Amino acid sequence: LNFNKAKFTTAFSAKSKPPEDRFIEVAFAGRSNAGKSSSLNTLTGQKKLARTSSKPGRTQQINFFGIDDKRFLVDLPGYGYAAVSKSLKQEWQGLMEGFLRSRQSLRGVVIIMDIRHPLKENDIQMIEWCDERALPMHLVLTKADKLKKNKINQTLFSVQKSVSDIKTDISVQVFSSETRLGLPELKSKISNWMKA
Ligand code: GDP
Repeated sequence: LNFNKAKFTTAFSAKSKPPEDRFIEVAFAGRSNAGKSSSLNTLTGQKKLARTSSKPGRTQQINFFGIDDKRFLVDLPGYGYAAVSKSLKQEWQGLMEGFLRSRQSLRGVVIIMDIRHPLKENDIQMIEWCDERALPMHLVLTKADKLKKNKINQTLFSVQKSVSDIKTDISVQVFSSETRLGLPELKSKISNWMKA
């Protein structure tokens, strides 16, 4: 798959209808500021496919990026943003939960976490939603360039251990948008999920 071909296709929000549910999709989820936009940009070799600004107003929609005519990367709204109202948080949560629970086209969910702060409450919620419908997950511990090698391996190991009880297919990798560490592994995971 040539991820560099990705381009913005469509978006929807709590107030609009989702696009047709009959293709192949892989969703990206993560806490605000975890590095989700950067990882999408690194994956697609584009500087601003996904916006790296964490301004909440911009991210309350679900964005679709087409790789070809039937494969899409889906950018879910960042969660856990502290500075927004409770009602807006609930709106996002509803949008995301509804999408994850019902979307037939989804082949898997990439959950982006800052390697320095993995498995926060909202991440665990996301993992539970995916697990409930046995949706494969890939946990990406990004910003690995911020840590020394032994700390990276220690965190990878402890996250793997924490999720080892979950029966749904779940894998973990380290990543950096800064150095592109882990890029081949991420591409290979998503390519496998997106096989026709
Ligand atoms: P999002 O809110 O999850 O989409 O997060 P962004 O991609 O906008 O990243 C949040 C902040 O973390 C930005 O200042 C990025 O430059 C920074 N960032 C993202 N990924 C990395 C990374 O791999 N390494 C480093 N050092 N900084 C990163």
